[in-house]
Amino acid sequence: MERIYIGMGSNLADPAEQLRSAVEALGHLPQTTLAGVSAFYQSDSLLPGQPRYTNAVAALDSLLAPLELLDALQAIENDQGRERLERWGPRTLDLDILLFGDRLIDEPRLKVPHYQIQERAFVLYPLAELAPQDLRLADGRSLPDLLAACPFVGLERLPHA
Ligand code: ATP
Ligand code: CA
Ligand code: CA
Repeated sequence: MERIYIGMGSNLADPAEQLRSAVEALGHLPQTTLAGVSAFYQSDSLLPGQPRYTNAVAALDSLLAPLELLDALQAIENDQGRERLERWGPRTLDLDILLFGDRLIDEPRLKVPHYQIQERAFVLYPLAELAPQDLRLADGRSLPDLLAACPFVGLERLPHA
């Protein structure tokens, strides 16, 4: 069993409902237990002209291999109508593997820890709700240090639905 953190995001077609459906789907993955879900957070898109995003993080305990999990996450994205038109375009659902146990993964299809974790408040703050307070990433960085360097700006934590 490894502890895995998944970053979830949506800015199309009722984002909060998209995230609830994604959580439901994560709970049905084979050889996997859903261990927790953060609150939902809203923020403006990093790119101008897109609807606001809703983001959250889910914790999984899984026996799946990293690429098996990535395949399963992409299948969930597709089931929820994800269209890949342009990089960083608006989307019904995005599921990113943030952390996978204490593994460092550098494969063409999968880089873990996720390469922009340190720059994204909408990832770090929900992650901090679920992870141990002193979590250390596989690359040696600590979650408290990453949080200290990434202000809680532009994020709105939504009341639990
Ligand atoms: P960003 O990666 O900046 O968050 P994005 O999530 O919009 O952008 P996608 O179009 O969803 O990017 O994914 C592009 C590719 O990234 C995927 O096909 C996948 O193979 C690859 N990828 C690499 N590392 C990861 C990871 N940790 N989690 C999910 N996908 C990853
Ligand atoms: Ca992403
Ligand atoms: Ca993605």
